Amino acid sequence: MSIIADEHLWQEIISPDSFSGEVMFGEIMKRHTSLKIGGPADIFVFPQEVISLKNSIVALKKKNIPFMPVGGGTNLLVRDGGIEGVVVSLRDCRRIEVVDDTKDLASLFVESGVPLQKLVSFARENGFSGLEGLVGIPGSAGGAIAGNAGAYGYSMKNVVISATVMHADGRLAKLGTEELGLEYRKANIPAGSIILSANIRLRKDIKEDIAKRGEGFLKEKRGRQPLSELSAGCVFKNPEGTSGGKLIDEAGCKGMRIGDAEVSAVHANFLINKGNASASDFIKLMDAVRAKVLATFGVELETEIKVVGRENA
Ligand SMILES: Cc1cc2nc3c(=O)[nH]c(=O)nc-3n(C[C@H](O)[C@H](O)[C@H](O)COP(=O)(O)OP(=O)(O)OC[C@H]3O[C@@H](n4cnc5c(N)ncnc54)[C@H](O)[C@@H]3O)c2cc1C
Repeated sequence: MSIIADEHLWQEIISPDSFSGEVMFGEIMKRHTSLKIGGPADIFVFPQEVISLKNSIVALKKKNIPFMPVGGGTNLLVRDGGIEGVVVSLRDCRRIEVVDDTKDLASLFVESGVPLQKLVSFARENGFSGLEGLVGIPGSAGGAIAGNAGAYGYSMKNVVISATVMHADGRLAKLGTEELGLEYRKANIPAGSIILSANIRLRKDIKEDIAKRGEGFLKEKRGRQPLSELSAGCVFKNPEGTSGGKLIDEAGCKGMRIGDAEVSAVHANFLINKGNASASDFIKLMDAVRAKVLATFGVELETEIKVVGRENA
């Protein structure tokens, strides 16, 4: 395992007055992912505001040290060798503000570190509709935009008007819907850019109706997904016109297990960690499922979760 950044390097490139926030060295990523899998990140930083983020990114860029953003780690498989360079979390940037509130519409400014479910509740409590289908999806607002999270016909694409990003060289840019290019579980954010915040537009509606729709979706989600197990949600994207879970189930994969990684018996597109799964077990199981679906249906499943990090522990 090659450690390319450590406490010594951090102190050398970032002066104490140019960064405020928590910094961790060799932090095990399994503590920060919903799968509870993943080796150590060389450095894990939690900038408290944009200027600290900018100062660190510019300094890292000068040294050619890679960095990657994480939100709630709920769509992430970190390999056993951990993450080379610096992991950046905007956990401490979590403002929600109503910037416009008319008879029919409300515009919100939302920072990336806002937990998605806090945003969903905020919208419901204020009578703002458009996010109720996202009820129960874990993670952050930033992660939800980066992967265009969605369910039940609702998605971030339908509400995001623009997002402010910090590019890899520290420049800020406001991206409109066309530049963001939100599609099914995909955004067109340039590599190395970090979403800082977004403007979203919601419709005004009766609070009780919004709550009722949300409760209905949550009930359905609880019935169909293994929410008490360790997972990263659906591992594979739904192929055009069909469901990944259905193909995996019908290919006979439910219950398949490698080490502590198992195909859920509740929802076949959820691969779960039964306790102590390694990333390598998990990836072998993903490969086995993909091969079985290909052999049975001739369909190549595309991975939805983000697999990151060094190969070897
Ligand atoms: C039980 C369960 C149910 C789920 N149900 C659904 C569902 O119904 N629909 C759905 O779409 N998803 C679902 N998911 C998957 C997951 O919760 C979503 O994809 C979520 O939006 C990921 O957000 P996150 O903050 O955890 O992102 P992370 O997992 O932390 O990151 C995911 C990717 O986004 C990037 N990223 C994160 N933050 C930023 C940022 N600020 N700027 C740029 N890039 C960033 C990361 O680098 C990474 O590539 C589910 C997951 C679980 C565990």
